[in-house]
Amino acid sequence: MIQALTDTPVEFDIEALMGRVHVQPATADAKTFARLVDMASEVARPKALLAESFVEARGEDTICIDGVTFTSRMLRANLDQVERVFPYVATCGHEMDAVSLPRDEFLAEFWWDTIKAAALTAATKHLQEYLQQRFLLGKSASMNPGSGDVDVWPIEQQQELFGLLGDVKSLIGVELTPSFLMVPNKSISGIRFATEKDFRSCQVCRRENCSGRAAPFDEALWESIRHSP
Ligand code: SF4
Repeated sequence: MIQALTDTPVEFDIEALMGRVHVQPATADAKTFARLVDMASEVARPKALLAESFVEARGEDTICIDGVTFTSRMLRANLDQVERVFPYVATCGHEMDAVSLPRDEFLAEFWWDTIKAAALTAATKHLQEYLQQRFLLGKSASMNPGSGDVDVWPIEQQQELFGLLGDVKSLIGVELTPSFLMVPNKSISGIRFATEKDFRSCQVCRRENCSGRAAPFDEALWESIRHSP
């Protein structure tokens, strides 16, 4: 079953967004930024696409889901006791990429990207609420191709992941570049699954000084996947 969620509610918290990009209130920058938020409120249509899928086979470092084989020891280990999974793509929506930004404001693109990220957060939140209501998913975690150290789950497997979700471009307007990045850039893909563990890809990522780090590097977990199963 593949389902598109195209009715994501989105409301931008302008003060929080301005704080994030260090725009001071009551300045010319604040005025321009507010104009961008107004534009985003008009056009933004965050969306998500999900499938209810099932694990069909497990190899040493592979896992087969609905006939598609993924190669990742970490994914294999995380899904060791899991039968049902939810491949997904969530996005800020391609509508935000069609907007003409003010040419006289050199920070406009950066600010717009921050607003797009907020739209993506709305899409992800809506998706998680839907999984909870529709499938009673409970406590869950997600793995994303390309997150964590390079070989944790290679980004090239975006192609297989998209293969589980049908025509992603026509359903929610997200496409893959030849280097497996997503357009719009504020999109995320992954597999969500029920688990009691607090797994985050950051635990198996050695990148230093990452502003997005959500959990410290976990040497023991990293070592465990190098020697498992
Ligand atoms: S530390 Fe940064 S780069 Fe590494 S997985 Fe976390 S957010 Fe991604």
